[in-house]
Amino acid sequence: MPELPEVETIRRALEPELVGRRLRHPWAFASPKFTPALLADDVRVVHVRRRAKYLLLGLHDDHELVVHLGMTGTVHLGEAIDDGYVRARWALDDDRTLTFRDVRRFGRLRVVPTGDYRTIPTLATAGPEPFDPEFDGAHLYAAVKQSRRHVKTQLLAQRAVAGLGNIYADEALWLARVNPAVRTLTRRQADALAEAIVEALGDGVRNGGTTLRDYRTVDGETGRNQHHLHAYGRAGQTCDRCSTELQSRVLDARTTTWCPTCQRR
Ligand SMILES: [Zn+2]
Repeated sequence: MPELPEVETIRRALEPELVGRRLRHPWAFASPKFTPALLADDVRVVHVRRRAKYLLLGLHDDHELVVHLGMTGTVHLGEAIDDGYVRARWALDDDRTLTFRDVRRFGRLRVVPTGDYRTIPTLATAGPEPFDPEFDGAHLYAAVKQSRRHVKTQLLAQRAVAGLGNIYADEALWLARVNPAVRTLTRRQADALAEAIVEALGDGVRNGGTTLRDYRTVDGETGRNQHHLHAYGRAGQTCDRCSTELQSRVLDARTTTWCPTCQRR
């Protein structure tokens, strides 16, 4: 599932290409998840932003087209494609086509007044952006203290910080040497984990995202971050720090991989 680095990689590619272009002749797959695309009709794109794992295309009529990629959503800009998995499509005023493709249909499109996310609760309640100055160890310490859930589950819940999914949560916990199943953090651990979250997500962005199966950049390329993972998906392999065999278990319904030595409870 695309997390912050994948969505940010797409955003960075789209911004210089889409701002100032006009979306025309919208087409949408017949599902209420995708038909809001039809509301973005003959309107200029004024910004391409990201908040948490959502892509936000600002429209000249003071609305935003909110794109959630779900599990398998991809955005393509260029030639029109039509392979049965296209869920929405716009012609641009420069003869290119903007396509939203989503095999498993867990993605979603919305058009809302700019900045008004009341109808999208996971976006409206998302915690701070990890790259914003307000996100630091003090914030993370206070946020985690309010709950008794496992720290990894809290990271996935998006309230303590926005943008993490299973991949980057496992990576950040490994970098910070924090066991995923603890329910409280010391202040020192919170500082290390906040720093590790920024590092894991920053590396993900610099590497153009992580491609395990479906994720592709706007150009149809795979990301490169899958070659740099330390924990996620590496159960049974040795820890890059201490050579202990990494372990894996299901924690609150999510497969979780960690080093039993570096990330001792
Ligand atoms: Zn280790």
